Amino acid sequence: MPERDDIVVMKFGGTSVAGPEEIKRAARRMVAAREAGNSVVAVLSARGKTTDELVESAYEISDRPDPREMDMLLSTGERISCALAAMAINDMGHKAVSLTGSQAGIVTDSSHTKAKIIDVRADRIREGLGEDKIVLVAGFQGVSTDSRDVTTLGRGGSDTTAVALAAALGASVCEIYTDVTGVFSADPRIVPDARKLPVVSFEEMLDMAASGAGVLQLRSVEYARNYNIPIHCRSSFEDLPGTLVLPESETMERPIITAVTHSTDEARVAVIGVKDEPGIAGRIFTALAEANVNVDVIIQNEPVHEGALADLSFTVETGDLTTATDAIASLGDISQEVRTDEQIGKVSIVGAGMRSHPGVAAKVFEVLGEKEINIEMISTSSIRISCVIQADRVPDAVRALHAAFDLGEDQILTEAPTGEHRPVSQP
Ligand code: ASP
Ligand code: MG
Repeated sequence: MPERDDIVVMKFGGTSVAGPEEIKRAARRMVAAREAGNSVVAVLSARGKTTDELVESAYEISDRPDPREMDMLLSTGERISCALAAMAINDMGHKAVSLTGSQAGIVTDSSHTKAKIIDVRADRIREGLGEDKIVLVAGFQGVSTDSRDVTTLGRGGSDTTAVALAAALGASVCEIYTDVTGVFSADPRIVPDARKLPVVSFEEMLDMAASGAGVLQLRSVEYARNYNIPIHCRSSFEDLPGTLVLPESETMERPIITAVTHSTDEARVAVIGVKDEPGIAGRIFTALAEANVNVDVIIQNEPVHEGALADLSFTVETGDLTTATDAIASLGDISQEVRTDEQIGKVSIVGAGMRSHPGVAAKVFEVLGEKEINIEMISTSSIRISCVIQADRVPDAVRALHAAFDLGEDQILTEAPTGEHRPVSQP
């Protein structure tokens, strides 16, 4: 058996295995890590847009594809990548074995298309490593012990497979190879001077993933935090260090603001005229939870006049909008009206340092006000401030906040700041 701390888990995303050249490049990386003395477990995503195409082909057949069969279909993409990569590794003179999620021992609950990992029984992976093989595991999938059916972990789920395996195998790090060079202070497609962050804490990454940073699946970050697995998010095309995601205790003092994130994949549901009495919100949100809908910003106003009705609004992912309105409709006459708006977006700032700095919210609102951007909803966590705004104003809002909080590349001082204007970004 290899030493436990010799194990590295490397995850390659869809663009990193898109074509034959990319698969061979990923295989060379795995072989290099093996030749450097590590035991290598690689988790692969489906190639390029394969998963999107599979989803499309399901909807070409059916308006409401059966969830069990959807998982049978979607899980094939990752298997293709693994089998091909194993062939490439064999041709490089190394031994490899590809495994499905089920063969790799990824045990999940039985909620199809959104399953949660409940156990990892990694004996077969350990066996492969013991036989000096590079073990390739199909990401994004598992098997339910209840139903014995194949499940998938939700879009982006290969990240979670990788972190779960790193935890189960006691790997020292989980490397996520992707088409960007790391985690950025904002989306570089919107903010040209956004900079790569050398280190981000688990807490910050959680809020960033929850507010639109697409680099890592939210659940993978939760898993990494719970099991204390450092993540190294880096490019599969360049050999440079990327971004380390670490426990807060291992990061240096955090800047007030680390990043500006955004999302336009949001929709608002307004439940108008609900009775102002105990239990109503509970019924509405229980129905949403049972339908597996993730709710984000929630606003409810207490009516000012006796007997008046309340309005309750919240945001969901656009893809969950119909499910959300169906769930509310299933409650019968709970409100006078349900309105929806798909033209909304959300801009957020995240930073662990904001806990101890008053005035950050005020500055966010002021900056958006100066740009004539109307804030429609607000929500906060101890290290995040999010504003729901019109979708078409999102890029302006991101740029304005990134500049106002001095997050850009040219804001990094190499010497200690002296004047009044201290940069908030860390060197
Ligand atoms: N192939 C799946 C998706 O596109 C899972 C993943 O890539 O992480 O969402
Ligand atoms: Mg991904």
